[in-house]
Amino acid sequence: AVAAPAARASVAARSARRARRGPYDGEVRALLRRMTFEEKLGQLQQLPWSWELNPGSGETREVEDAARAGRLGSVLSVLGAARTNALQRIAVEESRLGIPLLFGLDVIHGCWTTFPIPLAQAASFDPEVARTDAEVSAREARSCGVHWVFSPMMDVTHEPRWGRIAESDGEDPYLTSRFAAAKVAGYQGDGYRDGRTVAACAKHFVAYGGAEGGRDYNTVDVSESRLRNLYLPPFKAAVEAGVETVMASFNTIGGVPAHGNAHTLTDILRQEWGFDGMVVSDWAGVQELIAHGFAEDGADAARRALNAGVDMEMTSTHLRTEGRALLDAGRITRRRVDDAVSRVLRLKFTLGLFEEPYVKESAEITAPSPAARRAARTAAARSMVLLKNDGGVLPLRRSVTSIALVGPFASSTDLLGTWAVPAAAKRFPAAKVLDAVREAAPGARVTYARGVAADGAGTSGIAEAVAAARAAEVTVVVVGEPAALSGEAAARSDLGLPGAQEELIAAVARTGRPFVVVLVNGRPLTVGDWLDAAPAVLEAWHPGVEAGPAIADVLFGAVNPGGRLPVSFPRTVGQLPVHYNHESTGRPADPGNKYTSKYLDLPSSPQFPFGHGLSYTTFELGTPELSRAAVPAAALREGAGVEVTVDVRNTGGRAGDEVVQLYMRDRAASIAQPVRRLIGFERVTLEPGATRTVRFRFGAAELGFWTNDPAGEFLVEEGAFDLYTGTSSTARARLTLTVE
Ligand code: BGC
Repeated sequence: AVAAPAARASVAARSARRARRGPYDGEVRALLRRMTFEEKLGQLQQLPWSWELNPGSGETREVEDAARAGRLGSVLSVLGAARTNALQRIAVEESRLGIPLLFGLDVIHGCWTTFPIPLAQAASFDPEVARTDAEVSAREARSCGVHWVFSPMMDVTHEPRWGRIAESDGEDPYLTSRFAAAKVAGYQGDGYRDGRTVAACAKHFVAYGGAEGGRDYNTVDVSESRLRNLYLPPFKAAVEAGVETVMASFNTIGGVPAHGNAHTLTDILRQEWGFDGMVVSDWAGVQELIAHGFAEDGADAARRALNAGVDMEMTSTHLRTEGRALLDAGRITRRRVDDAVSRVLRLKFTLGLFEEPYVKESAEITAPSPAARRAARTAAARSMVLLKNDGGVLPLRRSVTSIALVGPFASSTDLLGTWAVPAAAKRFPAAKVLDAVREAAPGARVTYARGVAADGAGTSGIAEAVAAARAAEVTVVVVGEPAALSGEAAARSDLGLPGAQEELIAAVARTGRPFVVVLVNGRPLTVGDWLDAAPAVLEAWHPGVEAGPAIADVLFGAVNPGGRLPVSFPRTVGQLPVHYNHESTGRPADPGNKYTSKYLDLPSSPQFPFGHGLSYTTFELGTPELSRAAVPAAALREGAGVEVTVDVRNTGGRAGDEVVQLYMRDRAASIAQPVRRLIGFERVTLEPGATRTVRFRFGAAELGFWTNDPAGEFLVEEGAFDLYTGTSSTARARLTLTVE
């Protein structure tokens, strides 16, 4: 067994970040010397704003008074140049030291231009989609006074019941890491002086996606190895990409709440990875240490959070109010407070706030520009996954004479998904599918019947929908979940289509006419019996502001779908958890043995596996090749890489995208390994008949694993490694690499 060069990589990343940060240590120290202890505690306080409120209105007095008194470091949920400038003016011109405020906002998948939800973006298997969203969002946010976004969320999860899966990149740490790094790069750019970039926030640290039963905020109990192999890698990737801030998570980890967890916040994040940015609590996460049964009262909560590694307290005010008493009692140190304050101040210097605390008021609302809308439309179309297409119902012909659009989301604007910025959702709602289909097929008679309500209630409209389907050449049924059914505190115990939507599909199926199901949802759904009856199913997720046009692009073939599932779709809820990267039991499936690990009433496989997705064309993968059959462990330790190459050919009649995927399995290791692990992917576009050679390079980081050692032991062990190339996690083509 050998240790991989993980430590060296993070030292290099750290010095690169330092160089980029610039020489603010002197400025920070000088400012610290002038600050009272109360002013220092003030910098560690973040208070919430409320959407439509304006400074000077009286309703925001608490925030304004705190800014004036130098008792406030940051404000969240404030957007708009006039508002942020007015508030900033109080801090800069009326407080004793004039330290500018830092404005943070939940820009999760768009600011004014709502992009598809993050889970959808992950389905593009194209990190460029996420980077573009982040870049557009950063520009829009910064011009409206926002310096800092609470994104990217990078909680790996095996729980489709969890509503926050919509904000995540799904079930795989490698895919999530690639997206996390792309988003950090998109938000932060190369620096902050261009007025177009914002500080990013890696959240939620950590293991939040492991909430038991998928119930939000619930308990998480993971081994050190699972913590490090499954949940931590995206955060490490974000730190290596230079993320400025990290947000703690609401869950406990082995009984220790993440907000009071010195092991994760200090030992791993700060010491092992060398993270020198700022850690913010989640909303009242410090206060919740009391409800967790971990802190006795507010003072105790503040002490535990600060000492564990939280720098800034969001919403609750325990550190600000109890900090002085805690210091006097010797329960916190001046040094730790100075350390936390330095991180806040350094971020403000880095962002250029001391030089230019205000934004141009002329840029009050950045209506989505044509270019931003185009990017959102491309992102949405690239995110869609063709789950099924029997008999080639799709793409629809533009010469079609009549189309029936049915279902509660066919003429709905509820397609932005969770965490759309409220002001943007109000002003710039999603474009409807019905309108886009009318535009895409101008010669067709397009009829519309809702069938059932958005919550699925009522069946009285089904007859009308059936009549419309009967009279049309083809029917498009748009069904799914309202945005409110995913996101924070939006867990579901039933993953079927809500209400009578399945009944609607069944009724349309009984007409015997061709039809297509378009799903708009924030999580994997259990598709139920209707799947057999539906000739074609397109997973469109919550596609954002360009929902309608993007769906029409894919339905009519202007875009050939190339998205792949970033998460397994279960057959039933009773089957959960179901994910491709599980370990093997000692009793894997075996038709000859009754005593295997299974459900009697269900196949063990998911309905649709991770990585699955179809196209309007066909592809063939060649035989993969390894650059070497064996590699010495010592060479891997020194940074040697191995290459797998595989040819992919478009064997069909139209241009299209394939996502070539590489998986591995460490056959025998000192800790049982997942049966498959994604270690490479590439989305390629090919003209009909064209071939491309895809090259995957990997080394110790991809072949190794973290052990259960809390001090962090990363091993690449000798032995056989199976490598699989293919187009989903069920990939079959196999090579064997020997590490000697
Ligand atoms: C969420 C965070 C979010 C914060 C601020 C919390 O409830 O967990 O993801 O950034 O609120 O709105």
